[in-house]
Amino acid sequence: MRLAAERFDVLVIGAGFAGLHALHTLRGMGRKVAVLDAAADVGGVWYWNRYPGARCDVESLQYSYSFDEQLEQEWQWSERYAAQPEILRYIQHVADRFDLRRDLRLNTRVASAVFNEAGEFWLLSTEDGRQFAAPHCIMATGALSVPRLPDIPGIGDFKGAIHHTGQWPHEGVDFSGQRVGVIGTGSSGIQAIPQLAKQAAALTVFQRTANFSIPAWNRQLGDEEQQAFKAVYREHRARAREVGTLYEFSDKGAFDVSQAEREREFERRWNKGGVNFVHSFNDLSTNKAANDTIAEFVRARIRRTVKDPAVAESLCPTDHPLGTKRICVDTGYFETYNLPHVRLVDLKKTPIDRFESHGVKVAGEEIALDALVCATGYDALTGAVMAIDIRGRGGLSLRDKWAQGPRTLLGLMTAGFPNLFIITGAGSPSVLVNMIVGIEHHVQWITDCLDYLQQKSISTIEASVPAEDRWVEHVNAAANRTLLPLANSWFLGANIPGKPRVFMPYAAKIGIYRRECQAVADKGYEGFILSTAGAPA
Ligand code: NAP
Repeated sequence: MRLAAERFDVLVIGAGFAGLHALHTLRGMGRKVAVLDAAADVGGVWYWNRYPGARCDVESLQYSYSFDEQLEQEWQWSERYAAQPEILRYIQHVADRFDLRRDLRLNTRVASAVFNEAGEFWLLSTEDGRQFAAPHCIMATGALSVPRLPDIPGIGDFKGAIHHTGQWPHEGVDFSGQRVGVIGTGSSGIQAIPQLAKQAAALTVFQRTANFSIPAWNRQLGDEEQQAFKAVYREHRARAREVGTLYEFSDKGAFDVSQAEREREFERRWNKGGVNFVHSFNDLSTNKAANDTIAEFVRARIRRTVKDPAVAESLCPTDHPLGTKRICVDTGYFETYNLPHVRLVDLKKTPIDRFESHGVKVAGEEIALDALVCATGYDALTGAVMAIDIRGRGGLSLRDKWAQGPRTLLGLMTAGFPNLFIITGAGSPSVLVNMIVGIEHHVQWITDCLDYLQQKSISTIEASVPAEDRWVEHVNAAANRTLLPLANSWFLGANIPGKPRVFMPYAAKIGIYRRECQAVADKGYEGFILSTAGAPA
């Protein structure tokens, strides 16, 4: 069959951390690879999320690749938590250092991916009419890469600028002298609000759900501290493969100690900052009464910080256990509400009536706005995969197959879609751990698998339906052992109207998950169907 398509051994969709690492590894195996990305440069979420205050809440020495020792020794991080421009520079440096750019196809948005059963290859068509073909396709499309704008009546009538944090203008936005509204108080909103308050003449935050946030206590990283960490980088990386991020995990339950001791532990960790706080005791994510103790500690902090008691009360999260929505990490978030030009509108008490040309009407009151920032999140985990019209065996549409929620085996493949791999997708620990640890693991597993297929002359691999069904049940059971399903979170798709409520990430420790994946591979890819060229699947 003659094709107009460019042909490769492997096609990778997405040029963020996952796609670049996949490219580098596959190239090392001698494979001909193309990485397609809609963006004009590498970086994935770090390319798009340029909003003021954007930074990672995994410490920079950990939020980095481990695959190259020289890279990790030579790269110098400037802060405990790197800001978006520094992370983007790092990814660009990796692209240059490993000469990855020559295999990138940027400004290339994939519209469809169709498996050709007779030829056993994936045919990818782009929005601008180009075609690419390869026997194997890897979705490195990111867990949080499809921004979601709010459906609020009249929003289309608003004449001011509207910016989503995940699609921030590259030239930046100057809000000086403006009346700015922010919708959304998740991680993005909580990072952006203190920075926006520095510029705006008036800042109004429209809050639907109050969120737990822990201070970052971000700071410069000293050379000595950095060198000390790097001296034992291998040990740190090995540990991260077990636990995801190097937190101080406690071996005590919240009620194994007295109330005073518990408070001291919360206090100690609060003063160190960051997500480590949520690991103060080992039962906070599984025992509601234990969780109530840490939630109350945070609420007391909010009440202590925010001067207006009514505003403080609105900012206190009460409708979900701490950590069941992704915990936020901030710099001066709650303090921002003490500024005279910052106002909180509690949408639970006073919902938005509608947007109008020059502002918004809330419970009959008109609030004038020049600009609106939407920190309203993403169609998480499945959004980017389902944005592409993917067709597997017999023309099966992935959108149809996943209409009631994503179904995968190990999060890595989905039945009916041979040779299509997903990095850090639904059914894997993904967003519940340091993303780069998850990405490196998946790239390793997938590339080992491709190596195996080549050695055994196997042309297709796909998840079997019974194994996939068992995995989906296993993922549900893991979530149900925790408090995680208790919140209306994006982990469950609850932020997208009509999206089925399915807990998407796999809530086990990444070390356990890695062993499960390894066991499957060791048993000749148990649960997967392997077939040689031309043989019926
Ligand atoms: P998010 O956590 O989904 O938060 C979206 C916010 O918008 C929520 O407060 C939500 O309220 C609100 N919202 C959505 N639609 C609304 C509507 N129609 N009316 C009023 N409010 C509405 O999104 P995000 O803040 O962009 O964060 C997403 C994830 O990205 C994070 O959880 C994290 O995993 C990652 N992230 C990480 C960092 C970091 O490393 N520090 C920074 C940014 C993002 P409800 O809660 O009521 O739905």
